[in-house]
Amino acid sequence: MRQFSSLRPLSRSLPVSRLSRGINTTRATKTTLVPPVSSLHTPTPNGVKPANYLESLSNRILFNYACIGLVTLNKPILNLVIKAFPLVPMSVIDFFIGKIYCGGSTPEQTIATGTELSKRGINNMMLSYTVEDAEGIKNINIDDLVKQTADSIDNILKPHIINQIESGKEAINDIPPGYLALKPSALVADPANVLLNYNNPAWADKWQTLNDDCAKITEQIDRLNNELLAKYPQRKSPFFVSVIDAEKYALQQGVYVLQRNLFKRFNRPDGFTQVVGTVQMYLKQGMDIIKLEEKLAKEGNYRVGLKLVRGAYIHSEPDRSVIHDTKEDTDVAYNTGIKYVLDSLSKDPTHSVLGHLVVASHNADSQKYATDVLASSSNDVTFKSNVVLGQLLGMCDDVTFELINNHGVKNIIKYVPWGPPIETKDYLLRRLQENGDAVRNDNGWPLVKNVLKVFKDRVFGKPQTVSVTTK
Ligand SMILES: Cc1cc2nc3c(=O)[nH]c(=O)nc-3n(C[C@H](O)[C@H](O)[C@H](O)COP(=O)(O)OP(=O)(O)OC[C@H]3O[C@@H](n4cnc5c(N)ncnc54)[C@H](O)[C@@H]3O)c2cc1C
Repeated sequence: MRQFSSLRPLSRSLPVSRLSRGINTTRATKTTLVPPVSSLHTPTPNGVKPANYLESLSNRILFNYACIGLVTLNKPILNLVIKAFPLVPMSVIDFFIGKIYCGGSTPEQTIATGTELSKRGINNMMLSYTVEDAEGIKNINIDDLVKQTADSIDNILKPHIINQIESGKEAINDIPPGYLALKPSALVADPANVLLNYNNPAWADKWQTLNDDCAKITEQIDRLNNELLAKYPQRKSPFFVSVIDAEKYALQQGVYVLQRNLFKRFNRPDGFTQVVGTVQMYLKQGMDIIKLEEKLAKEGNYRVGLKLVRGAYIHSEPDRSVIHDTKEDTDVAYNTGIKYVLDSLSKDPTHSVLGHLVVASHNADSQKYATDVLASSSNDVTFKSNVVLGQLLGMCDDVTFELINNHGVKNIIKYVPWGPPIETKDYLLRRLQENGDAVRNDNGWPLVKNVLKVFKDRVFGKPQTVSVTTK
């Protein structure tokens, strides 16, 4: 059992995350493919909420889930699939599992993914158009990447949030912001050296280029936030937010300075917190980083937005001593971080130095903990709308479902990788490995059986279950 002895005990455990662990985004995609079961009934008729999370998924996604079940039947099968992965054409991989994890290869496909998510009560996305090149060995056109990233605000996030608002399905402040994930190691040539040498005059030009690239994208966010605020003045949280992803430890000192520069420039004391930086709570210094950012922002008269993650590089970190000694220590640090930020934000949500929080985790206990603290802290709309839960697309859908349907959560988004198919394979392979990490008792054959049961019910017209009422 997980232990949070110093923290509030959970009243009720959520299901253990089935599809979890790790993030290491690469450019990822899918191509459009016709769902093999498109003639079947669609789920959740008349707004009735299904009791089983599988019932909330489209036929296409269910088909992909069945495929995941089949490849995780047992370890030898999974290992064989992983070995064969590099030889299998991308279109085949994409057909069988791509739709679960990737938002699309074009803005139109990605908006369609957003629309599908909103049918499940997930009303916005954290978009990532990313390419990893921390070692600087790939020949990436950075200008193109910056342009595509900036354009995705206008082409995807803006139409999506306007559709959400105009549909009138949710109150305007119940719709989470659209986030744009910026991966520092993808936004400049030779990124590792640039980040390592952030305070070395010999690297000043390249360091400036990285800062300028992030600022260029965030200027677009700033402009569009002002534009939409003029149209919807009742909005209490940003419509769009720039999020700086965290990298491995050695690069993080540069990343902290980068995100601080953006906080100073774009998070004005009387405005939206439209830049969010990431803190990895598996680091022993995690809590100190939060307090340092808070102190510096107070002195500098700007606001700080934080995305709290546990941290994705535990297996590749050369200096293990910087990370908490045990998983339990990381868990306690993570929930302590959540509590600290929420306490601060709840006191004066419009002006607090810590102005926005993203709880980015697949851990059911942490998500429930954040939800409980949020519910018991304050009913202020500015407070509530500036706290958002986030998970990767295709990961822990059972936890997401439980939060939305049994805990009335509206402040939830999925991290959606999208873009042309160049690096999709690597991203999908990692998701598959993590997913089947695994071959746990809720993957494999039980998953296949449950998917088949949902299909059977849809084909033969059995009504979807109704054990949960719409809040
Ligand atoms: C929306 C989103 C955005 C993300 N962005 C980033 C990012 O920018 N940078 C980044 O680094 N990661 C990022 N991640 C990944 C994140 O850091 C975690 O790796 C991942 O979410 C798994 O942790 P968890 O909170 O879901 O929970 P769990 O599955 O409960 O925790 C697993 C995590 O616990 C920690 N852990 C495991 N074993 C030990 C141990 N023995 N000792 C100490 N700690 C241990 C590790 O951090 C491990 O990843 C993101 C995740 C999400 C959902």
